[in-house]
Formats: sequence, C-alpha cells, structure tokens
Amino acid sequence: MCWRFKTMWAAVMVLRKEALDAEIISNRAVASDIYRLEARGALFAQAALPGQFLQVYINKPDLFLRRPLGIAAVDEKKGTIAMYYRVIGKGTAALARMKAGEVVNCLGPLGNGFSLAASRPLLIGGGMGLAPLLFLAQRFLGKAAVLIGGRNKAEVFWTDFFAPLTRHVFITTDDGSAGKKGFTTSLLPVLLQEYRFDALYACGPEIMMKKIATIAAEEAVPCQVSLERRMACGLGACLSCVIDAKDGGRKKVCQDGPVFWAQEVFG
Ligand SMILES: Cc1cc2nc3c(=O)[nH]c(=O)nc-3n(C[C@H](O)[C@H](O)[C@H](O)COP(=O)(O)OP(=O)(O)OC[C@H]3O[C@@H](n4cnc5c(N)ncnc54)[C@H](O)[C@@H]3O)c2cc1C
Repeated sequence: MCWRFKTMWAAVMVLRKEALDAEIISNRAVASDIYRLEARGALFAQAALPGQFLQVYINKPDLFLRRPLGIAAVDEKKGTIAMYYRVIGKGTAALARMKAGEVVNCLGPLGNGFSLAASRPLLIGGGMGLAPLLFLAQRFLGKAAVLIGGRNKAEVFWTDFFAPLTRHVFITTDDGSAGKKGFTTSLLPVLLQEYRFDALYACGPEIMMKKIATIAAEEAVPCQVSLERRMACGLGACLSCVIDAKDGGRKKVCQDGPVFWAQEVFG
C-alpha cells in the first residue's frame, strides 16, 4: 500500500512538473570555473531521462529567473542528481557560493530526452555540452563511446568522468596538447569508418553540431542534437526559446527539445 502510494505520488509530481527543494550534498569545483553540484532529489532521480534539464531557482535577491541546467547523473538508489555548470554570470556565480546543506528549488525534469535506441552509440561533446552526455553514457550501460573536443588539454578533463562509463574515449584538441590535433568533426568521419557507430548524439557549440549533422546525413547515421537557447520559464509559455524548424514551423527548445533529430533543426 505504502509502495503503491509512493509510486502514484511520484507519477503525479512528475506529470505536474513540480518544483521541489533539493538539499545540496556537495558543490565543488572540478576545473577552472566549472562546478559539480550534487543534490538530494529522489523524484527527479526516478523520473529523469538523459537530455532533460532542471530549472534551478537560486534564492537570492535580484535572481528572479530560474537557470536551466542539464542533468548529468542520477543515482536512483541514493535519490540524488548531479549537474555540472560553468560560472558565466551572476546566477551561476551565486550558485557556486552555495554550500552543502543549503537548498535549491528545482523545476523538472523538463524537455525531451535522447533516444536510447542504439546498440553502437557515439556521443560527441564540446565544453559544457559534455555534461548531459554523461547521463546518456550512464544509461547506455557501457555500450557508448565518446568523442570529447576541447581547445586544449585542460578543457578535456571530462575524460576521467567518461572513462568508467564508456567503451572508448576519443579526444581532439585544437592545439594537439591531448588526443588528436583538430576538431571533433575532423576525426568523426574516420571513427565512423572504423567503428560503424549506429547513432550519433551531439551537444556543444552549435557550429560543431551543424557539421556533425551534415556528416551524419552523408553517412546515413541517425543523429540527435541538444540545443541551448536563453529561456525564462522552461515550460513552453514565455516563447523566448522559439526557433525556426526545417519543416517551416516553429519549435520551442524548452518543450519540443532541447533534444531534436538533427534533420528537424539543421538543413
Ligand atoms: C536546456 C539547457 C541546458 C543547459 N545546461 C547547462 C549545463 O548543464 N551546464 C551549464 O553550465 N550551462 C547549461 N546551460 C546554460 C545555462 O543555463 C546558463 O549558462 C546559465 O543560465 C547562465 O546564468 P547566469 O545567471 O550565470 O548568467 P547570466 O548571463 O547573468 O544570465 C542572465 C539570464 O540569461 C539566462 N541565460 C544566460 N545564458 C544562457 C544560456 N546559455 N542558455 C539559457 N539561458 C541563459 C539565464 O538563465 C538568466 O535568466 C543550459 C542551458 C539550456 C537552455
């Protein structure tokens, strides 16, 4: 009875996209200006799909709008979620000052996640785009490979986080200080020939994702991309994140995405 009630309650909360307080367990720097925040949030941990995000409310004067952050890991048993964020403005700076034991109010999980229908997936990320791909790697249970791109060795610190979750970690850096010199998009055609990946999942700079979409189309490999737009509500109401879709219509990144099939958004 108790178990049934709990399950029903979880379903109701998820359908209502409830905003819930999540107690911070840890909030620590993992690289220059990049933090990992882990918080208690059993309902988020149960409901979240890779690619979805939370709208995080930072309870400080003048920070009215919630900040969207991708879910980077969940632990269903412990009932915890983790997010990685780069300090770029006053919201993320305030978040970085928060300590274990304090509470952040989170709304979600929001948006559509990645498809898990692949047996040889390749995840491709640059910068903070790698954060949601970590959760995707976790859900692929060791089947996925990852291609990490960065400007230099310091930017590909993600390697350590992906190594336990993936079969292969490929690295490119612009300056050649780690992995292969060049962009992810230069190495991708070679990897597709060698490993015959059956799906690509990209998150990072839009120019990178567009190029990946082109390569995927040429090689006839299904490809999903995760887009980022400034958004206020995250619920499809404010329309600040609307984009033009390739079918001539409009899509809301918060609600129709942030994950799209590449051909929906890139020509
Ligand atoms: C679906 C989604 C998932 C994201 N996941 C991550 C993540 O996992 N890690 C991470 O570091 N960043 C992520 N971002 C970007 C992150 O939301 C912004 O960096 C953050 O909101 C900046 O807030 P700020 O107050 O520090 O910056 P400010 O520039 O002071 O923000 C001012 C306002 O603009 C909004 N804003 C600013 N930049 C962005 C942006 N790039 N995208 C959306 N809204 C923005 C803020 O929410 C705020 O309302 C994501 C964005 C989206 C849309």
